[in-house]
Amino acid sequence: MPERPDLDHILREIHETLAPRFGEGAVADYIPQLARVDPRGFGMAVITLDGDTHVVGDADTAFSIQSISKVLMLTLALGKHGEAVWSRVGREPSGSAFNSIVQLEYEHAVPRNPFINAGAIAITDLLLAGHTPREAIGEMMRFVRSLAEDESIAIDQAVARSEQATGDRNRALAYFMHSYGQMRHPVDHVLGVYFHHCAIAISCRQLARVGLFLANNGRDPVTGGSIVSPSRARRINAVMLTCGHYDQSGDFAYRVGLPGKSGVGGGILAIAPGRAAVAVWSPGLNAFGNSLLGSLALEMLARRTGWSVFG
Ligand code: GLU
Repeated sequence: MPERPDLDHILREIHETLAPRFGEGAVADYIPQLARVDPRGFGMAVITLDGDTHVVGDADTAFSIQSISKVLMLTLALGKHGEAVWSRVGREPSGSAFNSIVQLEYEHAVPRNPFINAGAIAITDLLLAGHTPREAIGEMMRFVRSLAEDESIAIDQAVARSEQATGDRNRALAYFMHSYGQMRHPVDHVLGVYFHHCAIAISCRQLARVGLFLANNGRDPVTGGSIVSPSRARRINAVMLTCGHYDQSGDFAYRVGLPGKSGVGGGILAIAPGRAAVAVWSPGLNAFGNSLLGSLALEMLARRTGWSVFG
């Protein structure tokens, strides 16, 4: 295994290998606005700890961040509330779908982890502490833009409205938790903020830059700024590895071996600790709601670079 893999070459190879399959998988359509995306899009970006950026395909096309925002929600909530976050959500893989309500009933409305919808809704409730919904959304946008060093990142308001209009399952999850006394803020405020966080439009290049601190013990290697402590970065990565791909998290760990978080917009953020942050986007999803070609691309990247956390 070369000490420094030729990332441009590897990315070109991945792109060429997958190109005949662009468009495979099913674009998420339960949020109508997401169904409008071109299914043949494919982009990938790798940023190493020295700030070198390697891209291929549609790496500058903005897509809907969706559940990948749950990593940022968790990071902000840990910053605000520390370990108390873990009294509101667990950190065990769920083994059921991202929007499942079934397990909540057995767990007295404490969601299994922060990366399923119920968990992220509980986390959003924490993010509202001391804030109006507008302020909570503003806090997230400042966080994302400063991590990316890019003020142009914005919320796609059409996606946010589309989620709001069709979000009955999320509403059900939130009211279920509310009925157990688990919500501190009005449910419509919490959901409004949650939907807006999911509707951030971001490109692979921007997303990899956002995630870089997680590859570098919590410190942004480019600016030198400390975002979270090293132990917190390790723990966020641990939750990503075990819970980041809905009920396919075990398979992703097996095939790719990197902490990762996917979203139904077709994006995946993967972290190679001590090496790089990687973002890939291809909107066609597999049966678990994870990007079909995105997971394959990461599997190929991990194999060619030897970056698996399992050595
Ligand atoms: N906003 C989406 C929802 O709540 C997020 C789904 C996802 O990416 O897992 O349904």
